[in-house]
Amino acid sequence: MTNGWCFDNTYYKLPDSFKENIEPVPVKKPELVILNKNLAEELSLNFSNLDNKKISELFGGNSLPQGSNSIAQAYAGHQFGHFTMLGDGRAVLIGEHLSKKNRHDIQFKGSGKTAFSRNGDGRAALGPMLREYIISEAMHNLNIPTTRSLAVVKTGEKVIRETPLHGAILTRVALSHIRVGTFQYIAARQKKNELETLLNYVIKRHYPNVENSKNKAIDLLNIVLDKQIDLVVNWMRVGFIHGVMNTDNMSISGETIDYGPCAFMDTYDPKTVFSSIDQMGRYAYCNQPVITKWNLSRFAECLIPMIDKDQDKAIKLATEIINTFEKKYEEKWLNMMRDKLGLFGADEKDKFLILDLLTWMHQKKIDYTNTFCHLMNFKIQKIKNYEDNIFQNWKKRWQKRLSTNNNTPEKYINLMRSVNPLVIPRNHKVEEALHEANQDNFIPINQLLEILNNPYTEQKNIIEYQIPSISNEKYQTFCGT
Ligand code: AMP
Ligand code: MG
Repeated sequence: MTNGWCFDNTYYKLPDSFKENIEPVPVKKPELVILNKNLAEELSLNFSNLDNKKISELFGGNSLPQGSNSIAQAYAGHQFGHFTMLGDGRAVLIGEHLSKKNRHDIQFKGSGKTAFSRNGDGRAALGPMLREYIISEAMHNLNIPTTRSLAVVKTGEKVIRETPLHGAILTRVALSHIRVGTFQYIAARQKKNELETLLNYVIKRHYPNVENSKNKAIDLLNIVLDKQIDLVVNWMRVGFIHGVMNTDNMSISGETIDYGPCAFMDTYDPKTVFSSIDQMGRYAYCNQPVITKWNLSRFAECLIPMIDKDQDKAIKLATEIINTFEKKYEEKWLNMMRDKLGLFGADEKDKFLILDLLTWMHQKKIDYTNTFCHLMNFKIQKIKNYEDNIFQNWKKRWQKRLSTNNNTPEKYINLMRSVNPLVIPRNHKVEEALHEANQDNFIPINQLLEILNNPYTEQKNIIEYQIPSISNEKYQTFCGT
């Protein structure tokens, strides 16, 4: 039985310099922890004829499906601003699977050493792999472009970090794993034909509508810029903080990728940072659009030789595009915030209305997600905060603005409900689920995943998933590599 696998491995056929042909290193005792049956179905895959042992061997990398050609992809990246040659040091792309709808990269993360492992062991720990599973699936259900998670398998081996941890492999599904860093890697080799191969490959695979355009590099830059603006606006909408927006973690397809020390903001504070390694706040909540533009500029630099033979002209053209970022971002962000407040049309004072609410939340240390729930009449926390005079006055202004909508309250509530989640992955609930899963209790993680499946729908008895942690301790996340 093929289980529906239908491989067509195009990246594998690219020049040798793009990748290393390598299979996952077999693991001692693979044991399935979680399988995403809904996603399997969406991918036209079905594992019902396999017993648990066979599924574990498959997703543990011990027996690859027919038709796969396993590779580690080469890429580079600016990590916290410093350029480094990287590549899949602990992952392999086992192939490109064609579902009824799309082409999908199937990647095993934690699958053993590759030519790009440097000093790493090529492995991953159970906690971070389950964390990626929870958050990526939550993002998908929040309607935010993201890689998906198909399965997590324990390897039966320990990985040594500060302490010995359970080893694990995550099966990740993506439109592709081509990153800004992939372009940086090829550009650094200074072989124009390779760069052109990559450009043509990306356009054919992701943006075939510009295949015959006069200047493909310019078109690609424009498209990727728009996609990244849409993505970061979505992150800002739900209070998501990626945590490591290095250029190797920015996907050309516009999906959220490489979940590491990411987390959701509770109390509204633009400077929120969770990652223990981000000491300067480079990737803080409010810096995400700024860094997106910075990363796009690095992308543009790679494209220069293909934009125009005349380098000055190429730089000028690329700069013009990069400089459209602020205006486009501001416009999309404003519209997103209007949606969150149920505002139709555009009033020039909208920006002040929005900023005043955010400033109030910041000053009074109020929960971001739950404030929008409050405005939609979901009383999650009976906190006195909302009786505050400043807030009440603000609410009057908001209601006055709503009255200019020229349509029914039902309409604006529906708009708000389509963009304001009633539940997000609260940090303490994620930690609790991971802690229990580490001790073989998978009930909390399954409950959490089930609730996060429908973040815009009212669900009974989920209050404990909606309130932020009452602990005063600052929440910190770790890279888990
Ligand atoms: P990430 O933090 O997942 O974005 O990874 C950054 C870079 O470090 C990538 O090139 C990874 O392949 C590499 N890396 C992370 N962890 C390991 C590991 N345990 N062994 C080898 N390479 C790793
Ligand atoms: Mg990465």
